[in-house]
Amino acid sequence: MTTPSQSDIPFLTDLRHDLHAHPELRFEEKRTAGLVASRLRSLGYTPQTGVAGTGVVATLDTGRPGPAILLRADMDALPIRETGTTSWASRNEGIMHACGHDGHTVMLLGAAETLAADPPERGIVHFVFQPAEEGGAGAKVMIDEGLFERFPTQFCFGLHNWPGLEAGRLGVRTGPVMAGGWRFRIVITGKGSHAAQPHLGTDPLTIGAALVQEAQLLVARRTDPMVAAVVSFCIFEAGTTDNILPQTATLAGTLRALDPRVLTDLKAGLTRLCTGLAQAHGTAISVDFHQPYPVTVNAADAADLARAAMLKLMEQDGGPAPELDIVPSLASEDFGFMLERKAGAYAMIGNGDSARLHAPDYDFNDAIIPRGIRYWHTLAQSCATAL
Ligand SMILES: [Zn+2]
Ligand SMILES: [Zn+2]
Repeated sequence: MTTPSQSDIPFLTDLRHDLHAHPELRFEEKRTAGLVASRLRSLGYTPQTGVAGTGVVATLDTGRPGPAILLRADMDALPIRETGTTSWASRNEGIMHACGHDGHTVMLLGAAETLAADPPERGIVHFVFQPAEEGGAGAKVMIDEGLFERFPTQFCFGLHNWPGLEAGRLGVRTGPVMAGGWRFRIVITGKGSHAAQPHLGTDPLTIGAALVQEAQLLVARRTDPMVAAVVSFCIFEAGTTDNILPQTATLAGTLRALDPRVLTDLKAGLTRLCTGLAQAHGTAISVDFHQPYPVTVNAADAADLARAAMLKLMEQDGGPAPELDIVPSLASEDFGFMLERKAGAYAMIGNGDSARLHAPDYDFNDAIIPRGIRYWHTLAQSCATAL
């Protein structure tokens, strides 16, 4: 794999370790944003800070009329306690870069450095360092704060590391690439009773257990098996001791699908199920949906631009052949909000045989930093000539 001569890989690797050691949660990326802005300034950019709180945007204007594109990295970490033992393991208790956004941030900084030294023939490149991808919909907040009015763009591109995919292998697809989703919270409220007298209460535990089981049928029997969808309950809280049937139970989880219509059907199905079970058992069940993330849908022309850049990169630098029709994921991404408004493509870069995303022993693979930078570099160059 060729190292791009125009970016300082040792500096970026150290910076990646520094960001990893000092992870910050959504909308709290102050230190991270400060380091990003200061690096951009040292590269000759005039970054705009404070976009959606902690977001940073820098623009490279070649001065020659041409396409405007936006390259996006996310900067936030997760509320997970790291179990890794590297010298750069998290020093912020209970917070961890478990999704590799530390790596995404330095790869985009490397792209800003490389493109400053070797700019595209024409057009404009916006480098967007986004806060709060993890559950904060930072991309939406940036859009609501006028991202596209302040930084007009034709195409948006995103890049995420992907454990299990060969290190440095790039991948993209046309159409849905990440799922849309809703989070839900269900509260079953009835009457508590003695464990030996269940008939005098409403036992929210058995009703909740039935709900968890029945909800699986929404996917298995109410959804076209050719469409990917999932319902996952991740929280089930009830009871205080082992001889009392409690009064309430709280369940929470998420619905995901690659097709927005299926997502709407799942949401309606879960609501129906709650209403039906409440009626059947004479209890109250409330369901609240929040945190909607749209399906991340790659536009055909943008995915083609990404594919062309990946193929060109392989020709120039060697390395693993790209996956030109990569399998989509039911994980979700707030980059979908950008792709609702602008054509664009969200691509993957293999993180190699690492722990999975959001696992406590995950770490971003430093060896892929040069490849990620070269992808951004080649993509920006290709867009300037192709558009
Ligand atoms: Zn994540
Ligand atoms: Zn992520």
